Amino acid sequence: MLVKNRLQYNAYQNAYYHANTEKCAAHGARWSRLNRVKVNAARYISEAKCKERVLTYYGDGVLACLRCGFSDMDCLSIDHINGRGRKHIEEIGGGTFLYHWLENNGLPKGYQTLCMNCNWKKRVTNNECKRGVGNAITSTSIQ
Ligand SMILES: [Zn+2]
Repeated sequence: MLVKNRLQYNAYQNAYYHANTEKCAAHGARWSRLNRVKVNAARYISEAKCKERVLTYYGDGVLACLRCGFSDMDCLSIDHINGRGRKHIEEIGGGTFLYHWLENNGLPKGYQTLCMNCNWKKRVTNNECKRGVGNAITSTSIQ
């Protein structure tokens, strides 16, 4: 096909795809298998961007812990303000599923960005530990 401009080319590609959906899907699947490194790198970047957007949103527009200001994204997490985070994560899946879930559900209220230390400290202070209320081992309980 002689391509005269980008719009014409896009229309041709679109029509070809819809006329050959199975063939294109098979080609795409084969390409993905043969280019696993590129696919994984693109997925990693996409998931990192999603995580950054969500953490920034729940950090009131800043990619940092709301309590202490720590800003290393690798150490930031989403905190369920009213607790019950473990149960929620077990329901939707771990890893990056929470970030995608939050975006896909319109970034609902009830979450905040905390660093792992502040998140853990809040969990202990509020007795949200798995062992139940009053069973947390804290720095004051061993003195
Ligand atoms: Zn913090």
